Amino acid sequence: MLNIALFGPPGAGKGTQSRQLVDRFNLCYISTGDLLRKELKAESELGKKAKDIIASGNLVSDEIIVQILEKTIAENPNANGFLFDGFPRTTIQAYILEGLMNKLNSELDCLINLEVPEEESVKRLLHRGKTSGRSDDNEAVIRNRLKEYHDKTLPVLDFYAQKGVRFDVKGTGSIEEVQAEVARIAASQYTKKPVSIVVFGYPGSGRGSQAHALAEKFGLEFVATGKMLQEEMDAGTEIGKQVAELYESGELVPDEIVIPLIEQKIASSQQARGFIFKGFPRTLVQSYILDGLLMKHGCSISKILEIEVPMLQLMERLAKRSRTDSCMPYDTSTEKIVRRLRDHEEKTMPVIKKYEQQHGVKTIDGTGNFDQVFEACATEIQSLFQVGSLK
Ligand code: AMP
Repeated sequence: MLNIALFGPPGAGKGTQSRQLVDRFNLCYISTGDLLRKELKAESELGKKAKDIIASGNLVSDEIIVQILEKTIAENPNANGFLFDGFPRTTIQAYILEGLMNKLNSELDCLINLEVPEEESVKRLLHRGKTSGRSDDNEAVIRNRLKEYHDKTLPVLDFYAQKGVRFDVKGTGSIEEVQAEVARIAASQYTKKPVSIVVFGYPGSGRGSQAHALAEKFGLEFVATGKMLQEEMDAGTEIGKQVAELYESGELVPDEIVIPLIEQKIASSQQARGFIFKGFPRTLVQSYILDGLLMKHGCSISKILEIEVPMLQLMERLAKRSRTDSCMPYDTSTEKIVRRLRDHEEKTMPVIKKYEQQHGVKTIDGTGNFDQVFEACATEIQSLFQVGSLK
């Protein structure tokens, strides 16, 4: 996710600059001013409440702003990120934004401040007033909007400066110059963010070998809980001994053992371009744990893949594997294999369902050969690193 707030006085060019960012990063655009004007036009209850306040150039109440924001965010559950224009306009709204981002398990990546002197704003707005049809684009109201900006909105800059995500841009250059600078800032924040990818699939779907190869190709840290547990067993550690017993019985390893291992791995890979998770999260509880772990390290889930293979083919593959050297301790009998398939069905499928609603899940046809499946997965991951070109 990439979340940006465009900041600046009325007439700074926020709307104009927004368009290119929305296209380039595939963001959901939220202009509280536009949304309010829509409500006015529709003569909704909310619109009626806001009408006079907008006409006078004052700020509408936070209750109204939160309502329209929540509605728009809920209507765009799979957004790649949000671009806020005209919000936050007060320090209180900055806290509101923190809360909204928190709910999405995300954060504001940058606040881009378009600096334009007052007289230039007035000039631009008077010019816009000739064609905009906006009741608030006349000199008396413009002066009041600028006063509101100085008194209530400017302090927001300090809030984000302290968080280290405030970027100032001279808004008086040509549209193209400002555009290039705004795009540069957004792109640098975007590429700085570590990505997190979760690869799902039934046992035997090839998720392990695919995820491993994908991690290599994209320079991501491969976080495979099964592999980490195997390493503990190989090293004969205390944890390894407990795991060996559980594996024998085909049980899932408890979170108390798995989570500290993942936590260590994430903490020791802070320089990585991102993470690719395989075999985790396996349960709904673990999906909440993953959100918490990622949030602690300033990341969130960027992409979820599910490799699909029909059940009979899975059984065939697992039975074949059990007769080879790559047989896993949990693949030694039909009973164990069935148990693992059932575990996936009962415990992990609900996680995928939850993610489908929350982030969207990309289904990959896993019936082809290794290279075909790899290609399909790689295309999906590649899209995370691509930044569209300027329009
Ligand atoms: P804008 O289109 O952003 O210039 O907004 C036009 C008018 O809508 C403002 O002068 C305010 O009356 C109202 N408005 C827009 N966004 C907000 C906000 N975040 N908080 C309070 N009022 C807002």
